[in-house]
Amino acid sequence: MKMQGALDFARSEMIALLRAVEPDVLESLLPAATLDAATRARVLGQAGLILNDLRAAQKSGWINRFLHEYRLNTQEGVALLSLAEAYLRVPDSATADLLIRDKLGDADWKAHSGQSDSKLVNSATFGLVLTRALVADEGGALKGLLARAGEPFIRAGVAAAMKMMGGVFVMGRNINEALDRAARPENKGFTASFDMLGESARTTEDAERYYTSYEHAIAAVGASKKVPGHNISVKLSALHPRYEVANAAACVPELTEMMTQLARQAAGLGIGLTVDAEETERLMMSLDIIEGVARNPQLSGWEGFGLAIQAYGKRCRPLVGWAQALGAATGNRLMVRLVKGAYWDSEIKKAQVDGMSDYPLFTRKAATDVSYLACARDMFDASHIYPAFAGHNALTVATLIDWAGERRDFEFQRLHGMGEGLHERLVCEEGFACRTYAPVGGHRELLAYLVRRLLENGANSSFVHQLADTAITEDMLLADPATRISSVQGRPHPGIAKPADLFPGRINSAGLDLNDAATLTSVLTVVAEAHPVHATALVSGQPVTGEARPVINPADGTMVGTVIEAVAYDVRRAIAAATAAAPVWNARPVEERAACLERLADLLEENRPELLRLAVREAGKTIGDAVAEVREAVDFCRYYAVQARSGLAQEILPGPTGERNELRLVGRGVFACISPWNFPLAIFLGQITAALVTGNAVVAKPAPQTPLIAFRAIELAYRAGIPPEVLHFLPGGVEIGDAIISHTGINGVAFTGSMPTARTIARNLLKDDNRPIVPLIAETGGLNAMIVDSSALPEQVVADVITSAFRSAGQRCSALRLLIVQEDIADNLLKMLTGAMNTLVTGDPADIRTDVGPVIDAAARDKLEAYRQSVKDKWVHALEKPAGTGTFVPPTLIHLEQVEDLTTEWFGPLLHVVTWKAGELEDLVGRINAQGYGLTMGVHSRIRSTAETVSKLARVGNLYVNRSMIGAVVGSQPFGGEGLSGTGPKAGGPHFLMRFVSERTISTDTTSAGGNATLLSLAETDI
Ligand SMILES: Cc1cc2nc3c(=O)[nH]c(=O)nc-3n(C[C@H](O)[C@H](O)[C@H](O)COP(=O)(O)OP(=O)(O)OC[C@H]3O[C@@H](n4cnc5c(N)ncnc54)[C@H](O)[C@@H]3O)c2cc1C
Repeated sequence: MKMQGALDFARSEMIALLRAVEPDVLESLLPAATLDAATRARVLGQAGLILNDLRAAQKSGWINRFLHEYRLNTQEGVALLSLAEAYLRVPDSATADLLIRDKLGDADWKAHSGQSDSKLVNSATFGLVLTRALVADEGGALKGLLARAGEPFIRAGVAAAMKMMGGVFVMGRNINEALDRAARPENKGFTASFDMLGESARTTEDAERYYTSYEHAIAAVGASKKVPGHNISVKLSALHPRYEVANAAACVPELTEMMTQLARQAAGLGIGLTVDAEETERLMMSLDIIEGVARNPQLSGWEGFGLAIQAYGKRCRPLVGWAQALGAATGNRLMVRLVKGAYWDSEIKKAQVDGMSDYPLFTRKAATDVSYLACARDMFDASHIYPAFAGHNALTVATLIDWAGERRDFEFQRLHGMGEGLHERLVCEEGFACRTYAPVGGHRELLAYLVRRLLENGANSSFVHQLADTAITEDMLLADPATRISSVQGRPHPGIAKPADLFPGRINSAGLDLNDAATLTSVLTVVAEAHPVHATALVSGQPVTGEARPVINPADGTMVGTVIEAVAYDVRRAIAAATAAAPVWNARPVEERAACLERLADLLEENRPELLRLAVREAGKTIGDAVAEVREAVDFCRYYAVQARSGLAQEILPGPTGERNELRLVGRGVFACISPWNFPLAIFLGQITAALVTGNAVVAKPAPQTPLIAFRAIELAYRAGIPPEVLHFLPGGVEIGDAIISHTGINGVAFTGSMPTARTIARNLLKDDNRPIVPLIAETGGLNAMIVDSSALPEQVVADVITSAFRSAGQRCSALRLLIVQEDIADNLLKMLTGAMNTLVTGDPADIRTDVGPVIDAAARDKLEAYRQSVKDKWVHALEKPAGTGTFVPPTLIHLEQVEDLTTEWFGPLLHVVTWKAGELEDLVGRINAQGYGLTMGVHSRIRSTAETVSKLARVGNLYVNRSMIGAVVGSQPFGGEGLSGTGPKAGGPHFLMRFVSERTISTDTTSAGGNATLLSLAETDI
């Protein structure tokens, strides 16, 4: 019971520290990491010795020098890194040649020629110089000849070089090869922890393959008598394609079972098993799995189980406490590997993208070092932890050696291929144990690992990188981390803005951490509650009377609320009131109008729970999509407020003396805002706030399917200070839309929806010959394509395709409709894609596990389903329809012969696929353009020139390179298309507001009062 208390306490501390204030966290760590003067002197002495060892070892390792010569911060370093990452997976020579030309063509290899004191590095450089000469465009006939003759030769050379680089970081292509290598003299004295390369399985088949490779590795290590003491490292993400918090209810028991099996096998053979540490969001879930395995009675007495702990995480220290408590609870010591953490950059980005309140990890390198030392102290003191200290930092190692004194009941760990020289002397002469983390796998699995290692080597703050930098003195290299952190009072790094502060002049919208158990529980509770909303049309804020119509939840057909829609009479009243109110509103200072928008943004965040519920229940949005919806609405409000302040100010224009020329921007009058159901809050409010802040009055018509969330938004807008007579709410169907548009009191229209409706609106606006031509901002659909070449990373492509095509059940204007894959990789890619589709959960969006919710209503379902059935013979893959009464359409992949075969935008989870041939890129983009639409396009390629070609030729509003095609962020990715996809300007972009205003120039003759006072009062000057 006491042990359980300790485990619970550690967990509660972890929860409290997740995004705690950095100086506070560090304040509690600093005492344990601070060295007194005598200790510091001894540590520096020891570190000096290690540095000598490291430097001596580096002289013999050519790869070290190769990496040092080509640092990440040089163009050549980046080129090599990208080449290494992509080259070995490219099957066709045309793309391989393009890739080489792209990566090696521009860089200045000559500058590196002869720079290194390693012959191998210099000859490699010479090879690159030669390659450059061959692939670069400049040059005469000889080069042309060489280029033709040379390409296969270059290709072979580059492949060999890349394999060599891979070989440096990988112990063997399979476990037997790795065991042999581990037994070689150069590894004498070192045990190994074998890591079966592969992570983030995308499909069940991948996960099964990885599981089998672990089983096989355990058996092989158990059977090998060559060197005792080896163990195995496991990445949980390799064992499950949906190892995600949202799927914890399923994946935690499944992974616990798998890991228990592997653990029993390992225990039976007397070898150890360590669980690697991965992304922060997965930590708590991984602890459930680890605890489940550790408590298994059949493993009682086995002390080979362990976990890795990342010092860069703010929760690190209580995590050590948790491991100690778990060891004590089971009576078995755990092996705890302390690392600094390998995902720092991606974690920082993710927190920014997700709008988190703060970072889960430290933002200064020295803070991570402080945390590492504080945790190491705890580990030394823990009775149920066998400490393993992983890393390549001489100062850290020297400190641990000093603290260890005579103790040898722990081990150091390092990565295969890194840190040669760091531990050799300590192992041979001073009896320290050291283990090498030894990746095992073929080149296919190597890439993600290789890139992480190269990034680690190349990062400016990395010890290994600094060691090779002659500009960094030994004092700098061995600077005391605790002193550094104390001197800045633990403040976060000034170069890393908090997620809320990313955008100048406005607060970024706040996200919700759905990976946090408490947050998730509260969201699920809110979403599950039925709070019917009774909406009504509002004319000058006054409800209308009439018959209430039910609004239906597309996931189950239940009633979410009711709406009393507007009738034609309400439309006339609203437009009359708006016309009267517009000049008064327009006369209010921009600042006042902008402040209303900012108050609305705050109110949206305050009322987020209810808005989430409505987005899920009324619009069928998954919870993640609902959070994004509210965030986008908030961002629109704040962004347009900032834009209005800077963009609407009156401007004095230059001209001759004696006159004043002034440009003013004023509202056009009454704007009609007509929005769709797929973004019932964000687009609805985006249009309205843009119109309001520019001084217009607004009549707003939401989609018939989603009036409830829109109604709540209008109520909040009134509360934010928008006068009711300036904003009127007119829910209804086509006839209300027609009545609004046909009314000559409307001075502008913002519309998002289908192309046919946009055309009808355009025609209606022109019907009356006496009516001025008013602006129509139309945002319509697209036949959005993604082009994938053979250099792209398949795992990333598949993840981005799944997101782009199936998230929001494909009901986004930006969604991917046509996947265009280079034929050389099509079979493999589609296999992976269909495997990944199989892991998708279609169902009730109120369930956090759901990936694909319903389509909006029965009419949409019937239309999509009729088409889907009509092309059944072309299905590459289709999921089963979920049970229940919801309007579900199963995600389906449909094969087409050619780009031109897709003629209709199917607004649902239906993805089409065609193939293309290398060398036909320009033609391909031309054919996509010829379809006439121009909303979004994606390209996945590791070849910069390919992305550039597409960006030059593609006539689309939003092009996405090597990422998903959805989720445009206000202010970062202004959204909107061209051609058949819309009129522009782009929503959430710097030019949007200008379409809502009229420009007025006021020119005043300032001499007309009797003379040119300005000119006559000019002072004499000597300048
Ligand atoms: C045997 C072994 C096993 C490993 N297993 C894992 C594992 O399971 N999971 C895992 O994530 N990593 C693992 N790693 C990788 C490990 O995290 C990195 O190798 C390690 O961070 C490098 O630290 P260092 O002491 O060698 O170098 P240093 O140069 O002293 O430290 C570099 C580290 O500092 C941190 N850092 C850099 N900049 C900042 C900053 N601005 N603010 C805060 N922190 C910063 C990062 O963690 C970076 O990796 C393992 C490493 C080894 C040696």
